[in-house]
Amino acid sequence: MRRNGQNGQTARGGIWEYAPAPEDRSIVALRSRYGLFINGEFVEPHSGRYFTSLNPASEEPLAEVAYADAEDIDRAVRAARHAYETLWSKLPGKERAKYLFRIARILQERSREFAVLESLDGGKPIRESRDVDIPLAAAHFFYHAGWADKLEYAFAGRTPRPLGVVGQIIPWNFPLLMAAWKIAPALACGNTVVLKPAETTPLTALLLCEVFQQADLPPGVVNILTGDGQTGAWLVQHPDLDKIAFTGSTEVGRQIQKAVAGTRKRLTLELGGKAAHVIFEDAAIDQAVEGIVNGIYFNQGHVCCAGSRLLVQESIAELVVRKLKRRVQRLRIGDPLDKNTDIGAINSLFQLRKIERLVAVGVQEGAELYQPECALPSKGYWYPPTILTKVSMAHTVAREEIFGPVLSVLTFRTPDEAVRIANNTRYGLSAGVWTNKGSRYLEFASRVKAGVVWCNTYNKFDPASPFGGYKESGFGREGGIHGLAAYVEV
Ligand code: NAP
Ligand code: MG
Repeated sequence: MRRNGQNGQTARGGIWEYAPAPEDRSIVALRSRYGLFINGEFVEPHSGRYFTSLNPASEEPLAEVAYADAEDIDRAVRAARHAYETLWSKLPGKERAKYLFRIARILQERSREFAVLESLDGGKPIRESRDVDIPLAAAHFFYHAGWADKLEYAFAGRTPRPLGVVGQIIPWNFPLLMAAWKIAPALACGNTVVLKPAETTPLTALLLCEVFQQADLPPGVVNILTGDGQTGAWLVQHPDLDKIAFTGSTEVGRQIQKAVAGTRKRLTLELGGKAAHVIFEDAAIDQAVEGIVNGIYFNQGHVCCAGSRLLVQESIAELVVRKLKRRVQRLRIGDPLDKNTDIGAINSLFQLRKIERLVAVGVQEGAELYQPECALPSKGYWYPPTILTKVSMAHTVAREEIFGPVLSVLTFRTPDEAVRIANNTRYGLSAGVWTNKGSRYLEFASRVKAGVVWCNTYNKFDPASPFGGYKESGFGREGGIHGLAAYVEV
């Protein structure tokens, strides 16, 4: 494996090192301190407390961010309620659409700035934030702008009405994209929002507030409150919310479900996953290997739908693992701002320790560990791409969500067995299948209990396509008409 960001070029094993190609970070003008975004302005937090968001690739502090407490949440919910009742819910759909189109266009115009900031604050490679996160976030605003004045066609014969004020809580793995997934449909349907980003990645949500100001979005329509898990818990408990939309871990999702039970609040939960990525012996193996690498390593495995369990047909298992190891040796780990980097930094020390702990358990339970030789940067949070073989469904690493660049390899003999293993999980968010036979993948897709099934590809998203899980991966869908339905009363 190669480490990115080294100076000069060296030939190793006949392969030339790439010269460093860092994206220019001066495009981002960070303030030293950010307040809470309430009623269209940045304001001081009630407690006067601030915390620091770090760059996980260097441990360098990036900015101080306000800590919201229950008082601040109340202030934000009141602003959102006022905006809802006096303006936003009464505005014709075509007027709401104009704001959403404007936000989408500004996101595109400022996409480089957003991409650099996303990589700085969260550690993901610039290639991912530039080519996936930011374009998809803009696409979500465009898509939902298109629906805002056509809701009666989405719910034909019925009268869709907004729900009211929505509390939204998002995780750190796709900070801007998750904000877009939550805010765009809520606003398109006429709701107003109080959103809490994750503690380790608040900065692109705060930059988005500047976009709202630039787009002249009326005050109070979106309020963004930074803080930690306790801030999220206070938000969930606020009595004047009509809905909670949460994306994060199954554990926290469960607590939220309990807190909301018996109240008028609607709830959608997008939770964890343990996706099976299945390769049949008739698959195009080199393409499948590329798909597996994309599915688990390119975003440090910080993806809820990461293909973390590889199910490979026994007849080709050795070949696939050999090719995977060779491919993994060529991955570049290092500076997230370098355009050639494949694997960036682990989002936080907490997440790094969790990955280390789960891999150690895997080895203790008998899995065989493969990690390419590599020098990791001395500062920051790093974990090498890892392959665990000789894994069975009895192993912890085959059942628990690791949320890191760790692939557990299992084998199967027959299509029935593949379906059985794929479904043998408490999750059901996504799955992937590689085969040359159309009948085989249609059969697999119809039997596997997963919200999304990719065939001969992986991790492809479109705002028109609903995303969400079965079982402990949550309920409710985001994207498409199904996603709109979660933000209206019909
Ligand atoms: P997490 O710990 O559940 O945190 C998610 C969000 O909830 C964060 O903003 C967090 O705040 C907040 N939070 C923590 N405790 C809370 C509480 N008691 N009440 C209310 N809010 C609370 O999850 P994570 O580890 O950050 O994120 C990774 C998880 O998200 C994985 O399980 C992944 O599979 C899942 N995910 C699912 C999807 C999907 O669409 N299904 C998409 C992306 C990620 P702080 O960060 O400030 O503590
Ligand atoms: Mg950070």
